[in-house]
Amino acid sequence: MGIAKLARGAFLVAAAGAIFLLERRRRARGYVERQSVHAGRNLIVAGLSAATVHFLEAPAVVPLARVVARRKWGLVQVLPGPAWLRDVGAILLLDYSLYVWHIVAHRVPALWRFHLVHHVDLDLDATTGLRFHAGEIAASVPWRAAQVLAIGVTPRALTLWQTLTIASVLFHHSNSRLSERAERALSWIVTTPKMHAIHHSIDPAQLQSNFSSGLAVWDRIHRTARFDADPRDVTVGVVGHLDPRDVTFARILTLPFAPPALPSDPHA
Ligand SMILES: [Zn+2]
Repeated sequence: MGIAKLARGAFLVAAAGAIFLLERRRRARGYVERQSVHAGRNLIVAGLSAATVHFLEAPAVVPLARVVARRKWGLVQVLPGPAWLRDVGAILLLDYSLYVWHIVAHRVPALWRFHLVHHVDLDLDATTGLRFHAGEIAASVPWRAAQVLAIGVTPRALTLWQTLTIASVLFHHSNSRLSERAERALSWIVTTPKMHAIHHSIDPAQLQSNFSSGLAVWDRIHRTARFDADPRDVTVGVVGHLDPRDVTFARILTLPFAPPALPSDPHA
């Protein structure tokens, strides 16, 4: 194992540990489901997603990033300056285009059916951040390939962005409430647990806000940022899917294929 891979692993373990402690010390909401059942289910769904990344996304996207680096394709590769600065530019544009993808996943009915699986979780915590339907991961592969090609993402930029995004996603999905001061300061930089709890609210208007996954600046620029709820007061879930019997492992895996239109589908 290379040093870079080891450093990445250590960083993610440290980040997950810190977020685990944050959830224990500054918990925002009580649990609707039994916490062990909730975490177990989410981690199994996350395992299926990880397998999809390993066997589908990585074989398509990583070789593409190598070609991009060798041939200097894409937007940032035509810029002057050192390679590390171009990688920083690529990471910023990856973060922005992930924000766009998240909006697309909410607006395109066929994609929303898959993204809904992430949103019907009745409890929001760090494990929710890893719980995406494998179909949503598969559907995002062409988007990821387009990001790499258009932006000019090298393998180094791709790995760094993925690592930072996983840490950010664990953090803002966490069942935690920061102090007012920390919340206000941090929400100028990154998506906070308060911002993302609002995105997971059963209120349909709040569901259509706070799409950023890394830097919060994209929501602020596009005026999709909302701060109008305390994370302690947010009811998490999607109207029409609030019964725990509707969010069992089998039900959420088959949810995207449930006929005909889903009652909670905002596009139905
Ligand atoms: Zn969403």
